[in-house]
Parts: sequence; C-alpha cells; structure tokens
Amino acid sequence: MPRSYNLFTPGPVSVRTEVLQALALPARHHRTAEFEALWVDLGRRLADVFRTGDPVAILSGSGTAAMEAAVANLFSASDRVLVPVAGRFARRWVEICKAFDVDAVALPLKYGESPSADDVSSALGKDHSIRGILLVHCETSTGSLTDLESIARAVRDAEAAAGHPIFTCSDSITSLAIDPLETDAWGLDAVVSASQKGLLSPPGLALVVLSKRAREALDGIRQRRYYFDLRRYLGTPHPPFTPAVPLCLGLDRSLDLVLGVGLEKIWKANAASASALRTLFEIAGFVPVARRQAGGAVAFWVGEVRADAIFETLREEHGVLIARGQDDLEGKILRVSAIGKGRGEILLFVRAFAETLAKVGRPIDEARAIEAAGNLLEGTRIWE
Ligand SMILES: *Cc1c(COP(=O)(O)O)cnc(C)c1O
Repeated sequence: MPRSYNLFTPGPVSVRTEVLQALALPARHHRTAEFEALWVDLGRRLADVFRTGDPVAILSGSGTAAMEAAVANLFSASDRVLVPVAGRFARRWVEICKAFDVDAVALPLKYGESPSADDVSSALGKDHSIRGILLVHCETSTGSLTDLESIARAVRDAEAAAGHPIFTCSDSITSLAIDPLETDAWGLDAVVSASQKGLLSPPGLALVVLSKRAREALDGIRQRRYYFDLRRYLGTPHPPFTPAVPLCLGLDRSLDLVLGVGLEKIWKANAASASALRTLFEIAGFVPVARRQAGGAVAFWVGEVRADAIFETLREEHGVLIARGQDDLEGKILRVSAIGKGRGEILLFVRAFAETLAKVGRPIDEARAIEAAGNLLEGTRIWE
C-alpha cells in the first residue's frame, strides 16, 4: 500500500469518508432503471454546478479526456484556434490541437499572468479565420485565474467581424465548484472539468458541457472520434458504454456535499483560503506567482530556498503533500491548495509550514502567521 498523505495539492484532493464509503458499495449494473435514474440525476445536479441548462456529458477518464473531447468534437482538421499560453495546462490545449491537426495559434504570456479581454480582442481582430479560443480558467501550474466573463464578451464582439461563430472553450478543471463559474450567463460554448478537484471525488470522471450552438455544430465537424464522440453522451438518458459505476456512486455523495454547502459559500471560502495561504507565503518573504489569484492553487517563488527541502520536510515530517513546479518552473516555485479543507486543517498547515521553514533555515513568526491566516478564514467555515 502506498502511504497516504494529507493532500494540499491542487488535485487530486483528499476524499472524505462518506464518499469513500460510497465507492465501496456493492456493484450496480448500469443497464437498470435504478442506475439510469442515478445517471440522469448526476447529469442534472452537475448542470447546477456548471450553472447551465445544457446537458453535461460524463466520460470515463481524467480531465485531459474532457479537454481532448472538446477539441475533437468542435474543430475540424486545419481549423484555427487561439490559445493564450501562460502555463502547462494551456500548453496541453496546444498539444491536443496538434494531435488532431487543429491549427493552434499561441498567444504567449508570462508565468503568473492571465489573458485580458484586450489581448483576445486584438488577436481575434487580426485574424478572422479563428474559430475558437481555448482558455484555462485556473491555470493550476501558476495559480492564475482567467477573467472568463470579460473574455467571452470580447469573443462575442469579435464574431460579428469574423462572420462566423468563435467557440469559447474553458478548461475549468480546477475552477468548477471552487471559483465563480457561470457557464450560461457568460456565454461559454464548451466547459470541461473532472471529478478530482472541486468536486472532491477520486479521479476518473471527465465532464463536458456544450452550448446549444456548439451541439448543433457537432455533425459538421470532420474529425476522428469514437469513444469520445460527444453525440453519444449528450441528450440521452442512457450511458453509451459501461460507466465507471463506483465513481458515479462516489460523485453522487460528493454532489450532496457540494450542493449541500452551496456554491456561493464554497467560492467565498476558497477565496478566503487562497488569500490566507498567499498571506502566509508573503509573511515568509516569498513572492506569489499569480497576478490574479485563483481559489484552487497558490504558487510562490522559492527564491534562494531549495524547493525540494520544503517539499520533502512537509511530506516526511508532517505527512503533508504539496505540489512542485512543473516543466521549467521545477525547483523555482511550490504550489499549495486548500480545496476541500476546513479552517482547522488550514491552520494546521500554517503550523507545519512554519516548522518546516524553521527547519530549512528560514524561520518566520509563527504566531503572526497563524493569526493572519486565522483572521482571513474567519466567517467562511465550511468542510469542518
Ligand atoms: C488538474 C488539471 C488538469 C488535469 O488533468 P488530468 O488529466 O485530470 O490529470 C487539467 N487542467 C487543469 C487546469 C488542471 O488543474
């Protein structure tokens, strides 16, 4: 058995006991009225979480499967799409496009930045052949939040000049049920997510919502797709293939938790926990990476301190797992997430982090850190 850690990683997140218990329920057959009722109910409640009246496709796979499905279903080979790139997950959009011969035009940004509506307007203004924009709502590699609402508005404005729809697609894998997300009100055409982040479930379910006009485009797309052909999943009450039944049972319980607390309260609590973590790192003299902070991941530059020393001390002496920098950010940043954590657990993390810093030769005022974090977490008590 691999050792289990207290996960302060931006997904997967620690899974609560009631969800774990649901995973262990006796097998259900998916071609039964009982399971199909559950399947339909999951879709309906997920739509509430996405804030949409459109159907939600539930796929077996990790989040990347949902990203791949969005590209393979909405863009034909040689279609051009715009991808603002400020981190690893935007680069993943570009790689998926390559795999499907979709022509991704990258809009490069610095780490920690997120695209602005002006950046997007001017890129779309210069190239009227662009048929989609692929965004990352929370760029988990840096903790930056993208202003989806104003970008989606800029895209709508650019459509008139282009003379054809430009689909706004969002990787909302680490924003769904974490930061405010309004699929319908913001006019998003494709939103993808997964089970192992804000939905507090184990990994293995991938989710896709398509707007009405995006669904209407599906038949006209020339692209290879079979298992992830979204026409098989959308608007039918029957799962097209054997679903990951235990994960569906777990998700059912997770949705009870999430909808029981309420999205607005969750959004507020995540904003508070991210600002508590940011404050902790600032007290320790570290510079946060993100200009516009997401609720689901806080990254900071380690400067002269060895990232591995912090990472390993937290893991070995406190049983706490955080995330390291990826690709060329390896060794330069560390990333922490409080998704699904209550106030008490976050304060325990603050203590563990302060002890870790003392150990690696960079002591901080622990009492001040606890007080500052505690104040920021006041009034947002969830997941206790
Ligand atoms: C976690 C995450 C993914 C995850 O993809 P997996 O295939 O589930 O590993 C993708 N995009 C973002 C922004 C993420 O945070």
